Amino acid sequence: MRDSIIIGSGPAGISAALYLNNLNKDVLVIGKDYGQLTKNDIIDNFYGQFPINGQDLIKKGIDQAKNLGIPVIMDSVLNVVKVDDYFIVTTIKETFEAKTVVLTTGKPRLPLSVPGYRIFKGKGIHLCATCDGFFYRKKKVAIVGSGPYMEQELSVLENYTDDITIFSENVLYEHPKYKVITERIKSFSGDKRLSHIHTKENTYETQGVFVAIGFPTASELALKLGVVTEHTNILVDEHMETNIEGIFAGGDCIGGKLQIAKAIHDGLKISSGVNTYLKKLKQ
Ligand SMILES: Cc1cc2nc3c(=O)[nH]c(=O)nc-3n(C[C@H](O)[C@H](O)[C@H](O)COP(=O)(O)OP(=O)(O)OC[C@H]3O[C@@H](n4cnc5c(N)ncnc54)[C@H](O)[C@@H]3O)c2cc1C
Repeated sequence: MRDSIIIGSGPAGISAALYLNNLNKDVLVIGKDYGQLTKNDIIDNFYGQFPINGQDLIKKGIDQAKNLGIPVIMDSVLNVVKVDDYFIVTTIKETFEAKTVVLTTGKPRLPLSVPGYRIFKGKGIHLCATCDGFFYRKKKVAIVGSGPYMEQELSVLENYTDDITIFSENVLYEHPKYKVITERIKSFSGDKRLSHIHTKENTYETQGVFVAIGFPTASELALKLGVVTEHTNILVDEHMETNIEGIFAGGDCIGGKLQIAKAIHDGLKISSGVNTYLKKLKQ
């Protein structure tokens, strides 16, 4: 079992990996893309670095870690589960185990930015089938998404109901069992709780909606684990540890200055926090 799995190969994740590697810890970094710096923006305020394309800077960080023998893989994390005092991390391709998990998944985004989303979030709109699927036993629900993450959430949801409609949001998608609506969602409505989904073409009745678009962001992974967040930022203590023992977080996903220098500093602090935790775990 590894000492730590770091989710996110941006500045915060790679920095945490470099320092943990210095402390002789066995770490694995999983990242799905180049994070915030996926676009070709020029970075000209990073110490010791002439203006550089964001992607190139991220790639340099990943190469630096790999050069030191740290495994950095490109994959998307779908789920993290705590079992006793260790964690199981599921990606599209594999399953890994670690004593600690570090969330450096960048700035959480709003999964669905349409009228009614914020009003009915928690009142019919949910982001975690494992957390809230139970409340929809034998009820009529919708799931939004079309990729492996949606399929994983769907596999949880179908333990509670088989009255499920998939809203694929303009993506051509077929499912052998459930009805698929490809129309894009325009808004949600209801009285005290969500009751309808509106597309440009139609209105659909529903009792619940589970959003699983793309891949889980920091907020969604946090929700699955019961990690406390505030305004989508993950809350951490002075050791960068969340309310769940063994789960640490840093970089943009905990808020504060959204800058590379701050993310790297968070990575350093995470390494100390993880090291102290692993020492305690040994005793
Ligand atoms: C347009 C733009 C310009 C910027 N310019 C500057 C600048 O000039 N100077 C500066 O200091 N800062 C700049 N920033 C901010 C800077 O990019 C961020 O502060 C920094 O990248 C944060 O690092 P991070 O490691 O926290 O997150 P990110 O760099 O966003 O990395 C997040 C990582 O998490 C991974 N991830 C997310 N979800 C999953 C999942 N489910 N499974 C697997 N991996 C996952 C991503 O693939 C990525 O590897 C800019 C940001 C933007 C958007």
